[in-house]
Amino acid sequence: MPELPEVETVRKVLLPIVKGRTIKSIEVLREKTIISGAKEFQKALENQTFLDVTRIGKFLIFHLTNDLVFISHLRMEGKYFEYNEGEEHRKYARVIFHLDNNKKLVYDDSRCFGIMKLTSEKDYRNDKEIAQLGPEPFQIKDADYFIDRCKKSTHPIKSTLLDQTLMTGLGNIYADEVLFASKINPFIKAKDITKKQWEEIVKNAVRILNEAIEMGGSTIKSYHPGKDIDGNFQTVIKAYGKRYEDCPNCGSKFHFTTIGGRGSTYCPFCQPLKQDKLIVAITGKIASGKSTVLANLKDKGYPILSCDTIVHDLYMNSDFQRKLIEKLDIKFEAGFNINELRLMVAKDKKLKKKLEQFVHPFVYDIIAQEYSRFDKGIFFVEVPLLYESHGEDKFDFVIALDINENEQMERLKKRNLSSSSLLKVINMNNKFDSYKSKVDFIINNDSTPDKLNGQINLILNKLKLLLN
Ligand SMILES: [Zn+2]
Repeated sequence: MPELPEVETVRKVLLPIVKGRTIKSIEVLREKTIISGAKEFQKALENQTFLDVTRIGKFLIFHLTNDLVFISHLRMEGKYFEYNEGEEHRKYARVIFHLDNNKKLVYDDSRCFGIMKLTSEKDYRNDKEIAQLGPEPFQIKDADYFIDRCKKSTHPIKSTLLDQTLMTGLGNIYADEVLFASKINPFIKAKDITKKQWEEIVKNAVRILNEAIEMGGSTIKSYHPGKDIDGNFQTVIKAYGKRYEDCPNCGSKFHFTTIGGRGSTYCPFCQPLKQDKLIVAITGKIASGKSTVLANLKDKGYPILSCDTIVHDLYMNSDFQRKLIEKLDIKFEAGFNINELRLMVAKDKKLKKKLEQFVHPFVYDIIAQEYSRFDKGIFFVEVPLLYESHGEDKFDFVIALDINENEQMERLKKRNLSSSSLLKVINMNNKFDSYKSKVDFIINNDSTPDKLNGQINLILNKLKLLLN
């Protein structure tokens, strides 16, 4: 979906193409695109001359002679193309304006969400959708406007910025960018945004939109000289869509979440949200020292939980055993036996998957229950199979333990592993490499306990900044 800078770019490219040109005739290939009626649109606009193209929000406003105006909204995929007469247009052409210079302006829309509407100089500002649009950031001079309008709003600031009746101009991409530049967490309630923060939002919105408009103008001219006027160009985006990438300010991983149904990317440390409590997962390679870290945190007084313990307790529970037998449709020689179950899943990959899909929700339920009983501070959970069980979104942060292979093998020798278990370790290491780039913090547990403790303390200090 084009955002305001793209539409402004389209406007700038269209203006010299149409200004002063008279419409000889209009072909309407899809009548529904013209919501004010196709026949009337053709009749009114044929033989009229384009005087100007302006923009309100994401509406393009075409001004013609005789005080005629038509509004165009591109929605998802609408585009304008300029062709020579006789040149073949794309199959998505919906409306064709034949101009008096042997060229045609083609409105092209593969998904048909875009609309056109005939109106007049007197009426276009009162058009229902245009009339309800709020001011653009460029027009806002005093942040009291927002304080006044949002004083009771408990909506997150991210959704508030997308509300085009409050301010028009920021879509999902630029709302993320503006919040990142303003160092404001997208979850903060609109009523809690201070006047100074609103001023930052407006200032950054103006700057970012202007930069995108400037860049759009130059990009589009450089590779589509007025031909494909859709304005879908690349802009310098710092935060939007950068989940798991490093924040350019502080190096932390960008986080991704959904707010009001829209994906939102933000840096949890540059855009902090003070909370009473945090839940943090600890994962990593086999024999990398997860339990040592957990013990260290326990010694420091932090509440901890281990998935291995949870799973162990679950298997001891007769109610759980009964449900498991029923769900997996398996039989034991003489009642539930964990070793027998292990043998069964070792031979049967499908059964293993079924077992995991059955067990993981129980484990995450127990973690959630335990966490809900806890009111303040940081809660740590050891989750060896965090990514394999797609549990990463259940935690505020993820810490992973890494270790070099020699050290890992030394430790495993002490555990007397069989060769098949060693193979499993190698597989796990491969998996670790695939999710290593996604975790918030990596602890390298290759050296002394002191150094390990130092790394843990650094992480704790950073996390504590987010606590109330
Ligand atoms: Zn950051």
